[in-house]
Amino acid sequence: MTYPGTLLRKEKLFAKKELGQNFLADPKTAEMIVNRSKISKNDTVLEIGAGLGALTVHAAKKAAKIYAVEKDKRLIKILTDELESVGIVNVELINQDIFKVDTKELGFGRKLIVLGNLPYNISSQVLFKLVKERNNIKKAILMFQKELAQRIQASCGGRDYGRLSVVMQYCSKIKNIADIGGHLFFPKPEVESRVIELSFFETTCFSGEKEDFFFKVIKAAFSKRRKTLRNSLAGNELDIDSKTAAQILKQTGIDPVRRAETLDVNEFIDLTRTLWSK
Ligand code: SAM
Repeated sequence: MTYPGTLLRKEKLFAKKELGQNFLADPKTAEMIVNRSKISKNDTVLEIGAGLGALTVHAAKKAAKIYAVEKDKRLIKILTDELESVGIVNVELINQDIFKVDTKELGFGRKLIVLGNLPYNISSQVLFKLVKERNNIKKAILMFQKELAQRIQASCGGRDYGRLSVVMQYCSKIKNIADIGGHLFFPKPEVESRVIELSFFETTCFSGEKEDFFFKVIKAAFSKRRKTLRNSLAGNELDIDSKTAAQILKQTGIDPVRRAETLDVNEFIDLTRTLWSK
């Protein structure tokens, strides 16, 4: 793998901040991430934001097939040449915005493994997309800004615990893969990164409309973090007032003056069941 700075300079290009372009510049770290993700020859991988191929080249050696999605057209030619120069033939480059990619079309009936060093500005949206489409996904190995990974992993009651923690802990088993220092990227970002693995559960309590409603309840509860649940659940798209909210909370066995960050995933599930049947 050629150093990202060298590749960009050769083509007179620069990294685009708005696309979150901080390229992993250390092949050993890239290899370690791919090894720990335990990709095998039976797997089809969807890589989000392939960039200059730091993860792609290592994943290609392990997987049956890689669909490498990259929004920036400028990088596609460089990556095509890079892959060709090392004789990699099982990577299909897709010059597309990840939000326009339908994961169902890629797996041909088999569940995908998602891999990516995510652009930090779209990380949460990508997560929500993966959760929505998780029937097509076995697991995701993703690099995030460390603070965001900590929010996903946070336990109930802590400062970092929020909407992302509840949603991701509801539908996946979360494992730490590695912490990665900023000095291993080009250009060097201000922040540290963390790679985590999200293995999606085969089944969850809710699906379809009921699950959409569950996600709405979580969003409403955390919309006014400092307020009590009685007040945060009222006056938003749940369409209930604070008196009804208090009644529903009591009926679920939750004190209406508690705050959202004190509710664990199971309590959110119970609360949704009561709200749904009101
Ligand atoms: N995987 C490479 C690596 O580890 O060095 C690049 C990672 S860089 C943090 C994120 C990559 O995602 C960039 O190449 C960027 O152009 C690409 N990207 C940004 N927004 C995207 C989107 N909406 N869809 C697909 N790729 C995107």
